[in-house]
Amino acid sequence: MRGVVTAVLLTVACGYLLAAGSVLLLPPFLAVAAIIAVGLIGSLVLFLQLRRRLTARLNRMLRTLRRAPETNFAARCPVGDDELGTLGAEINQLLQRLTELSVNVIDTDRELAWTQKELSFKEELANKGRLLQATNDQLEGRLKELSQLFDISRTLNSSLELEPLMDRFCEVGGRTLDVDRFAVCVWNERRKALVVRGLSGFDEGQGALRGMRIYPGEGITGTVHETRTMLYVRDIDKDQRFMHFRGKAHLHGSLLALPLPSGDQSVGVMLFQRDRIDAFTFEDVGLFHIIANQVAGAVANSLHYQKTRELATHDELTGLYNRRMLERRLEMEWERTSRFDSVLACIMIDVDKFKQFNDEHGHLVGDDVLRFVGKFLAEHVRRVDSIARFGGEEFAVLLPRTDKAEAFAVAEKMRSSLAESELPRSGAKGPLSLTISCGVASTQDQPSSAKQLVDMADHALLLAKSQGRNRVVSYGDSGGETSV
Ligand code: GH3
Ligand code: MG
Ligand code: MG
Repeated sequence: MRGVVTAVLLTVACGYLLAAGSVLLLPPFLAVAAIIAVGLIGSLVLFLQLRRRLTARLNRMLRTLRRAPETNFAARCPVGDDELGTLGAEINQLLQRLTELSVNVIDTDRELAWTQKELSFKEELANKGRLLQATNDQLEGRLKELSQLFDISRTLNSSLELEPLMDRFCEVGGRTLDVDRFAVCVWNERRKALVVRGLSGFDEGQGALRGMRIYPGEGITGTVHETRTMLYVRDIDKDQRFMHFRGKAHLHGSLLALPLPSGDQSVGVMLFQRDRIDAFTFEDVGLFHIIANQVAGAVANSLHYQKTRELATHDELTGLYNRRMLERRLEMEWERTSRFDSVLACIMIDVDKFKQFNDEHGHLVGDDVLRFVGKFLAEHVRRVDSIARFGGEEFAVLLPRTDKAEAFAVAEKMRSSLAESELPRSGAKGPLSLTISCGVASTQDQPSSAKQLVDMADHALLLAKSQGRNRVVSYGDSGGETSV
């Protein structure tokens, strides 16, 4: 603006000089014309100068405004004391406000981005939390299962005897297993049936169920044993095969029946029951399979132990005492007889011509017949008597507090009844029959030892054989032989 003022002053000064000169030197009309011309030229110069200046400042302002968005409204217009300067200052204030607004927007955007990130973090965290909770629940479940399995396996190792083993297992299983009821049915080879040996959760009805026999193929339990395949009954009420323990325990809900495998055999069946329909999950089935396998191992061990123990005292084919056990019983009875000054009798029994029988019908039929004879003879003696398979086709009976005549009568009853009995044929052709010979001796024959009592009875048996078989001979009664 200062330039404009200077130009105006210079123009005015020049005008005055020119006017003074013109007035002095030129005629008046020319002087007026000259003054007007100088005035016009001066005004034109002034106008041009003013326009150039204003245009330049306005352009600068315009550029500043145009660049404002690129520079985030940081650019500023030139300011001054005149109107344009004031306008520049106003625009700058506006720009300043825009700058602040833009900063606010940036801050808000940043905050929004952070909030979004935070939200996504929170969601991720919540997901992780849920995963952690699920894993934790799963781990807790596994831990519970492991502790159950540990308790159960410890229990199953606590005894080799089946009865205490089952009692203990049912007590611990009843506490730890997550079912409403369970039962263990164990295979009994002699009875050819599953026998209910362990029960839990059946309350007062439990007593009536214990010892119940279930035959192969019968109901769910018998089918599982026969097929050695598990059965899952989702709704007991809808499965006709379930026999409700022959009507003695009416159950509802779901049932899982698992075989108890031992090698390629099944030593029994285990039943797990819940009162809810379809209450067993895939995981449950896995867990109960492991438990059933453990129970199977323990039951198999127990049965094996029972058998080994039985074999030490009993004959495998007939189930009667073996010779070793008979000798133990003999010593015991001999002792007792001497102490109470009582009598003791012994009968030795031998199947007649059994070699020939085997040759005619085969060894397997012979085995069946020996089993039958053992059972038959056992039915003819009292509970206090001891009967044993002495070896091969020979049997021995000890009769405490029985005199020789009574023992003879027992032997005679055995002989005559068997001679009249028809034997089981088990594949043999035609009816089968057999006879036996018996030798009887008693302490009345005054043996000096228990062993001599048996020898005397054996001696009488030899006499029965030599006299034609199918007969009973008392020691000292025939052939005049009096000593052994
Ligand atoms: P005896 O009237 O003189 O007693 O004639 P026996 O043929 O019965 O007597 P011997 O001693 O000659 O033969 C006994 C037969 O008993 C021979 C054997 O094959 C048979 N035997 C012994 N133990 C068993 C067994 O466990 N099963 C079978 N099937 N046969 C047996
Ligand atoms: Mg014989
Ligand atoms: Mg013999």
